[in-house]
Amino acid sequence: MSGSTSGANGSNGSAVNGLDGYRLVLPQSRIPTAWYNIQADLPAPLPPVLHPATQQPVGPADLTPLFPMGLILQEVSPERYIPIPAEVREIYRLWRPTPLVRAVRLEKALDTPAHIYYKNESVSPSGSHKLNTALAQAYINKQEGVGRIVTETGAGQWGSALAIAGSFFDIAIDVYMVKISYQQKPYRRSVMQAYGATVTPSPSDKTNAGRGILARDPNSNGSLGIAISEAVEVAATSGGMTKYSLGSVLNHVLLHQTVIGQEAVEGMAEIGEYPDVVIGCVGGGSNFAGLAYPFLHKTLTEGVKTRFLAIEPASCPTLTRGPYRYDFGDTSGMAPLVKMYTLGHDFVPAGIHAGGLRYHGMAPSISALVKGGYIEPRAYHQTPCFEAAALFARLEGIIPAPETSHAIRAVLDEALKCKETGEKKVILFNFSGHGHFDMAAYDAYLGGQLQDYQMSEEELARALSTVPQVSEAG
Ligand SMILES: *Cc1c(COP(=O)(O)O)cnc(C)c1O
Repeated sequence: MSGSTSGANGSNGSAVNGLDGYRLVLPQSRIPTAWYNIQADLPAPLPPVLHPATQQPVGPADLTPLFPMGLILQEVSPERYIPIPAEVREIYRLWRPTPLVRAVRLEKALDTPAHIYYKNESVSPSGSHKLNTALAQAYINKQEGVGRIVTETGAGQWGSALAIAGSFFDIAIDVYMVKISYQQKPYRRSVMQAYGATVTPSPSDKTNAGRGILARDPNSNGSLGIAISEAVEVAATSGGMTKYSLGSVLNHVLLHQTVIGQEAVEGMAEIGEYPDVVIGCVGGGSNFAGLAYPFLHKTLTEGVKTRFLAIEPASCPTLTRGPYRYDFGDTSGMAPLVKMYTLGHDFVPAGIHAGGLRYHGMAPSISALVKGGYIEPRAYHQTPCFEAAALFARLEGIIPAPETSHAIRAVLDEALKCKETGEKKVILFNFSGHGHFDMAAYDAYLGGQLQDYQMSEEELARALSTVPQVSEAG
């Protein structure tokens, strides 16, 4: 899929100190031994998470019906480094460290003086970064005697990753899959089932939440919010037997993804370069944080000047057009209130192909760092993103996931700016996943049938009208 022994080397000028050729793969002995927790380095502590009914700060006990204590403790930990259990690190060896690749052929085609690097997370068995946290979550649940985990999935990337992790640690995985995706993407369902997971189209008649929706609308297509409500209900009413799991947004999920950035810090040092710009796409924020936070550690503690660009879809412009306020994490208002950039918890984004970027909120730590000016948000429509993805595929050989294409669009624009100014910047981005299960999206792009959705001011105001009033002391 990537890498080559011929072609780019010193003879055509691509060699930079420690990089002779296209890519660097660190030895497995250098897989990180701890996750990096940015909560230790934030300029101010994160605002407290509030109970959805009482609006009082939640304690660990409030979360135990849904999560194992090991993950709850990680969620609130102030420790800078949290050791990775040996069992998890052992399975990371199946595909980690991931390649750090210099996009030599892309640089040449753009005729840019910039150096473009990407961390290729698409080489994981699930095809994206999500397995980094799925394994950690499954292991910690297993340690605490949990035999079954329930979750939701939209397009199926998260469900697939958790299904693999469940098979490795012998935990049953139940996935509530948005019904329209279940019907339109049968192979995604097959992937999860091949790994042994049970997949239920949502809304279903297995839960009160699902039965309520079906009573009102028997033909409901479902939504991520409905699927979350079903999965949360199953866990909350299981008497502790079944736990719930989330693939993004929460502190512990971002924490687990920092293996990406720690490897990238070491890889860049080996090559003898340091990024001027770090770029990632953001849905809930986990792949961006995974790459960026170990570099942000140097910015926050040593004052290293780096730009961090978080790229979102223009049709779900959480960071670029939403306010920084307390809102519910889920659509039905059962999940805790967190302070974040939000478009309103019952906002349903347009049906763009980057399903993984269609979330109304954003991880609290990313939100705080955007508010503080450390991270620059930017939004793109999907058509220019697919153009960038097609160019990348034809030059670099890998078909990007529609989510990843948002990061690539920003990379192209930054590299083209360097061409204008003559600046030799070093650009690093996260190649969060491949698009092999997204060919219907490429079909639409290649057939000229992509639509771009601009959110109107009225639509934005309507969506924000549901954000609850929370009085913030201090
Ligand atoms: C899920 C997903 C995303 C978006 O989620 P984050 O938590 O923001 O990373 C991005 N890229 C790929 C390939 C995904 O599967």
